[in-house]
Amino acid sequence: MNKKEQREKFIDIMAKFTAYTGKHLPDDVYAKLKELREKEDTTIATIIYDAMFEDLKVADDLDRPLCQDTGVIQYFVQVGTKFPLIDEIEDCLREAVKRATILGPLRHNAVEVFDEKNTGNNVGKRIPWIDWEIVPHSNEVKIYVYMAGGGCSLPGTAKVLMPLEGYEGVVKFVFDQITSYGINACPPLLVGIGIAGSVEVAAKLSKKALLRPIGSHNSNPRGAELESRIEAGLNEIKIGPGGLTGENSVMGVHIEEAARHPATIAVGLSTGCWAHRRALIKIDADMEYEMISHKGAIL
Ligand code: SF4
Repeated sequence: MNKKEQREKFIDIMAKFTAYTGKHLPDDVYAKLKELREKEDTTIATIIYDAMFEDLKVADDLDRPLCQDTGVIQYFVQVGTKFPLIDEIEDCLREAVKRATILGPLRHNAVEVFDEKNTGNNVGKRIPWIDWEIVPHSNEVKIYVYMAGGGCSLPGTAKVLMPLEGYEGVVKFVFDQITSYGINACPPLLVGIGIAGSVEVAAKLSKKALLRPIGSHNSNPRGAELESRIEAGLNEIKIGPGGLTGENSVMGVHIEEAARHPATIAVGLSTGCWAHRRALIKIDADMEYEMISHKGAIL
């Protein structure tokens, strides 16, 4: 395959992958929703969960997006230094989003800030958003796509706490925000928390925490314990599916951290909704792909 053919294959895979993500939940999110549905016995909670599963079935049957808000497209790229298209990934991803917008179809969600104009193809200044990680000595690329819907982005926030507020301050910050705005994000929620020394690092880590598989834990046992405690506490609030009360509030709580400045504790918060459209694909140097988040999916 020459460079031109490689490029065309890569764009085609990424366009189909992005459109597919709008129509099918990843395996872990689907399994968690099933688990939470089984724990409910009130009429209202079971009706809402059953409506979600009906929605997923209809989306699959009709080959349509599972939510009308297909979000702003964000890619988290882990690219090997020897991946043949490393110089062209950004250009290819912009083209892939334009094609996915037609293929999906995806709602037009890119509004240029100072022109107040919708671009009509989900591509705009710095959108699709691309986050880069360089992987030495590798010839493959792994790419997460995340569809950042309006409702699920709305509770997002970040702040630098005074050091004396401690990690208790982090917990208070999270609970205040979820009890004030969580309902906007179509619960049950996936809660991503970033803890760091400055606000932009904490905010970015909170979004990266949403990329982790549900059921995974922070690599530090104390971090994992804090995740479990916050999850248990948020579930005590019983926000329920759609915010209409139920046995649980969240699908999970994920924390990612970076070593902080001694005098600051920055905390970032991002939320994912029940329709948590996050997918992971691996593409090798021969442009062969594997969808890691959706086992066996063929694009
Ligand atoms: S919060 Fe999620 S499920 Fe609700 S409208 Fe937005 S994208 Fe759709």
